Amino acid sequence: MNKKQKLLSTLPSVDEILKGKICVEWLKNHPRRYVLQAIREVIDSRRKEIIDGIDTDLSLEKLSADIERRIEKLSSYSLRPVINATGIVIHTNLGRSILSERALENIKRVSENYSNLEYDLDAGKRGKRYSHIKGILRDITGAEDALIVNNNAAAVLLCLNTLSKGKEVIVSRGELIEIGGSFRMPDVMVSSGAILREVGTTNKTHLYDYENAISENTGLILKVHQSNYRIVGFTEEVSIEDIVNLGRGHQIPVMFDLGSGCLIDLRPSGIYNEPAVQEVVKSGVDVTTFSGDKLLGGPQGGVIVGRREYIEKIQKNPITRALRIDKLTLAAFEATLMEYLDEDKAKEDIPTLKMLFQRHAEIRERAEKITMLLKEFLRDARIEVIQDSSRAGGGSLPEMDFPTYVVSIKPDTLSVNELEWRLRHGNPPIIARIKEDSLMVDVRTVRDSEIDSLVNGIRTALS
Ligand SMILES: *Cc1c(COP(=O)(O)O)cnc(C)c1O
Repeated sequence: MNKKQKLLSTLPSVDEILKGKICVEWLKNHPRRYVLQAIREVIDSRRKEIIDGIDTDLSLEKLSADIERRIEKLSSYSLRPVINATGIVIHTNLGRSILSERALENIKRVSENYSNLEYDLDAGKRGKRYSHIKGILRDITGAEDALIVNNNAAAVLLCLNTLSKGKEVIVSRGELIEIGGSFRMPDVMVSSGAILREVGTTNKTHLYDYENAISENTGLILKVHQSNYRIVGFTEEVSIEDIVNLGRGHQIPVMFDLGSGCLIDLRPSGIYNEPAVQEVVKSGVDVTTFSGDKLLGGPQGGVIVGRREYIEKIQKNPITRALRIDKLTLAAFEATLMEYLDEDKAKEDIPTLKMLFQRHAEIRERAEKITMLLKEFLRDARIEVIQDSSRAGGGSLPEMDFPTYVVSIKPDTLSVNELEWRLRHGNPPIIARIKEDSLMVDVRTVRDSEIDSLVNGIRTALS
């Protein structure tokens, strides 16, 4: 027997490990199929290492530890919390908005009990799920009526399909946008059955461009928020007021896809080009759509507000049934919207707004605290607090820099790419960005409750 054969013969079989005492523990806490799979995989990889002549630890302790790690990996959730140290508040890849306490409590309350989701308690008969948010949306936005569907993409599709199927929709060329996740206005238009009638040029669209395009077959005039891009320089766009007047004159409905859907006045915070939903409704737009999980700070959803005759028509569209939101979303939405009845409270209690508008000094204190905690343990890395800027994200407020403080870490014993990789593979994963040879931990999006995990994660990654 050569050396390899000898080593192979010392490898335990799957059955032997299954009979072991430690396996009883594994089976108590994890599904049998994953325990078996982990044992097989670890033994197979050991066998391969032996055959390839790689020096490998065949002790039972090491084998068990590897199997256990594998079992834990196999039976852990795929979708799980991460620490967002990017400073991007509405980070689409990291789940966009985090919900408020109140929204979370309401999800639990509604989903652990039966509810009046589609039951009219006054009448004692079948009701409508949408009835629960109509009142509050009317109160906050001033619109006559409202509806919520699965997301804003669905809201746009549904409105176009209901109001302009087989008809032309007039849109400025400067607003034929593509946003993340392959939402492209011209493609959505095709899917909805509406016919795109683009007017103007990329940088300039005049009122007469819209006017000249109006025909017998015009079903809708659409304005689209440019979201994640801006045209600067020699530009012109038509105000929503002028478009509304034009639509009125020709009895053509006007729709505004607002994208983010901000429910508070941002002007006191120095942001002048993000109209609040209330203002858009007031300008007389017939139908306005916006997201639930961007600046609004609620769950994923697409809100449609506007004139009752149109909302009723949209609600009756058979496609609405396919795009309907579930009760968990409704519960979170109603609770989030309730926060807006007091704007100051909304800014305090809705995490998205709180992170965007937190005081500069507060961010700095958090960065300094994290730095201090890290310095207690780490000597072989250069750690300092520096000024930088964060982004709103999610296609919202793209030209805004939000001044922030970041903890900059320059590792001495490993590369910054290796550090970034280790943090991303930690538990919980920490997502941060690299700038030159430093790792930037933007603490705008790190909550106080995450500081300990963040510090531990960085310590582990650096050691
Ligand atoms: C984000 C956005 C959408 C899509 O909204 P979702 O809620 O992500 O589906 C549509 N239109 C505009 C202008 C947007 O900014």
